[in-house]
Amino acid sequence: MIDPATMVNRPAAGRDCGDCTLCCKVYDVPAVESVAGSWCRHCQPGRGCGIHETRPEHCRAFFCLWMTQDFLGPDWKPDRSRFVLTMDPGTRWLFAQVDPGAAQAWRKQPYLDQFRRWAAAGGKPVIVFVNRLATAVMADHDVALGTIGPEERLVMREELQGGRTRLTVAKVAAGA
Ligand code: SF4
Ligand code: SF4
Repeated sequence: MIDPATMVNRPAAGRDCGDCTLCCKVYDVPAVESVAGSWCRHCQPGRGCGIHETRPEHCRAFFCLWMTQDFLGPDWKPDRSRFVLTMDPGTRWLFAQVDPGAAQAWRKQPYLDQFRRWAAAGGKPVIVFVNRLATAVMADHDVALGTIGPEERLVMREELQGGRTRLTVAKVAAGA
């Protein structure tokens, strides 16, 4: 279980990126004009950052959940799972940013079942992104959200389903 109270932004003992460089592919990094879905031009995939000593602060400060949470085993290392897990420090929502070269990887096991367990335990979805295309994984269903623009945000909602209410997710304008 991911306990938000234990979240830290430093590597757990013994954790090391090793051969993984996936976060240098799946996120926008404006400081080096890197666009989500393509390797940063400074990345040497499987080896590391070609400008390690002078890499942007954004890169220095980033550690994925596999790095900070030692209960996530080897299956969850991003170069094996093919997605990078993070938790929003404000909302505590979980995000999986998937390698577009393996866009269905998150649907495999043990990942999808674990996402559903986290969603059930936390009462919040796991939001899966392939570039900007988002899917909310709930305890018992998925919601295809389409692309999420910079002026949009995600909210929890109740909806009627089969005569009973259930929690689901919708995107709304940022000011709504
Ligand atoms: S995704 Fe995680 S393990 Fe992989 S390089 Fe980035 S911080 Fe390291
Ligand atoms: S500058 Fe280096 S650490 Fe930052 S995204 Fe590019 S390759 Fe990765």
